[in-house]
Amino acid sequence: MFIKREDCSRLATGGNKTRKLEFLLGEAWKQGADTIVTSGATQSNHARQTAAAAAKLGFRCTVVLESRVSSMAPQYTASGNALLDKVLGATIVSAPSGADMPALVAEVTGQLTDEGASPYVIPVGGSNVLGTLGFVECAGEILAQAAQLEISADHLVVASGSAGTHAGLVVGFDALGSPCVVSGISVGGYASAQSNKVCNLATAVCRELGLSATNIPHRISVDDAFIGPGYGLPTPEVREAIDLVARYEGILLDPVYTGKSMAALIRYIRSGCYSKNENVIFVHTGGSAALFGYEKFFA
Ligand SMILES: *Cc1c(COP(=O)(O)O)cnc(C)c1O
Repeated sequence: MFIKREDCSRLATGGNKTRKLEFLLGEAWKQGADTIVTSGATQSNHARQTAAAAAKLGFRCTVVLESRVSSMAPQYTASGNALLDKVLGATIVSAPSGADMPALVAEVTGQLTDEGASPYVIPVGGSNVLGTLGFVECAGEILAQAAQLEISADHLVVASGSAGTHAGLVVGFDALGSPCVVSGISVGGYASAQSNKVCNLATAVCRELGLSATNIPHRISVDDAFIGPGYGLPTPEVREAIDLVARYEGILLDPVYTGKSMAALIRYIRSGCYSKNENVIFVHTGGSAALFGYEKFFA
């Protein structure tokens, strides 16, 4: 078993959104933007990494945050990523659960424009074609590292949310001729809807790169058995996964994404899904800052 440490991507506690932001903020720069606008849940790792990347590159940043998990109050809105957004100097616009987020983002963007700013809007999770290129590149990096270790990359397990990470890895492995089997662990959407989301994005990325998308639908697999009651709502299996990895490896997972993807990997191992000579890569996509927003779950 190997862990690809996307949680060590350095920007303000790290995470998988950093690779997407490399491309997205390059585009914002090219367009002459001075302010980055993005959105997500209150404990969004994407919003926090966007705030950090914007700070580093000299953009102002506004994050529109939907308070989706009221059961974890008050830390959910006060600590973890929400606190880091403030420390990183982002302007925070808070919205209640169920708010019309696209409308709110449009409103905030309009206001910034009226004030003379040049905003650049990044979609939820940074998962458009441009952002997803970061994970096409990551697939190449994984294969190069596997070659260096003289191992074959047989299986890979990754959390699947806004879909850019999952889609980019599948496109990258396919383009590079790797048979690596990618299991996407859904953190919110049911398998059919999530597969469509990943497939549509991956197909659009293939089109952009001039690659054939013929194999893409057969290479997308989504497991929705670990969602529990819904997005951002952890389960006993998540608690077990977080405890196990912390106490055996000293590595912090998170309650929203990697807790669920690791819970899946643990079940796959226990049920004998892999043979002894196969290598399994777990992609640690980050998120440990959210632990502080979920203090109640661990109490
Ligand atoms: C956003 C996120 C994911 C999911 O990645 P997507 O590209 O949105 O599917 C997984 N893990 C963590 C910690 C994240 O913040």
